Amino acid sequence: MPWRKHPSPYRTWVSEIMLQQTTVAFVIPYFERFMKKFPDIRALASAKEEEVLALWAGLGYYLRAKNLLLTAKKIVAEHGGAFPDDFDSVISLPGIGRYTAGAILSIAFQKPYPVLDGNVSRVFSRLTAQNKTQGRLWEMAEKFLDRESPGDWNQALMELGATICAPENPHCGRCPAAFSCKAFKAKTQNLFPAPKIKKPFVKLNWNFLWIEKGEKALLWKRGESEKLLKNHWGLPEVGQINAEVGALLKSGMHTITHHQIRVRVYQGSLNEKNPAPAKWAPKRDLSRFLVSSLWKKCLPEGN
Ligand code: SF4
Repeated sequence: MPWRKHPSPYRTWVSEIMLQQTTVAFVIPYFERFMKKFPDIRALASAKEEEVLALWAGLGYYLRAKNLLLTAKKIVAEHGGAFPDDFDSVISLPGIGRYTAGAILSIAFQKPYPVLDGNVSRVFSRLTAQNKTQGRLWEMAEKFLDRESPGDWNQALMELGATICAPENPHCGRCPAAFSCKAFKAKTQNLFPAPKIKKPFVKLNWNFLWIEKGEKALLWKRGESEKLLKNHWGLPEVGQINAEVGALLKSGMHTITHHQIRVRVYQGSLNEKNPAPAKWAPKRDLSRFLVSSLWKKCLPEGN
């Protein structure tokens, strides 16, 4: 993994944020592009949000990218551009919770802080053959932490969960912890951890307008109060602007978290001069503004 080479607080932090809810294989090319464009905290802190979001396009959960930028600015303003190395400062940074703080401090600074992600939780549940609360799992992570090499220990645990102690059919024959694993001994590995109750899907209908003027298309800035893709540039929705709704150009399904969205895009023609908050953007350059993968399904062929 590229972030394991030349580990630094900055590289560890960016990789940990990218890896949230996303697989290693998917993250690697994003990480490499990000490091090429923003090789250190100062380079990131001086970037425009638009540039950061463009590099994030396709990774989803865009709040993560916005928080990276906010955090880089904060580190430059309050810590002279050096990543802080104490827990209270790290956890107060935007987008950083207990897991990410523990990962940065242990891997990049060799400080004795544990980590607990889904993979580590699964290993602990199976080792003890118990469904434990988050609080009890953190206590275990704290208790078993190797204080001499906390970074190696945490990465080994996470990797054990990711590669050997797989959610379905774990490879117990290759597991270095099998000798002390209660679930393995009782052949109850697949009972732990207890399955999470999934949130039911919320179904939504989004109807957008494709409005062109020569080589440009009309984009609309989604508001702060939007539930999804807030503050993102997108296509205007039917009803947001004064426009005629014409032929259906495209339709499809898109999923964001537990929202299942039926998307339809209609040809539109504008009845007002300067709708706001909107802008005309060159059609060949739309991917600079439309960062969510949703828009790939919406743009008419050839755009
Ligand atoms: S023995 Fe099997 S179930 Fe137990 S920790 Fe190892 S891989 Fe997981």
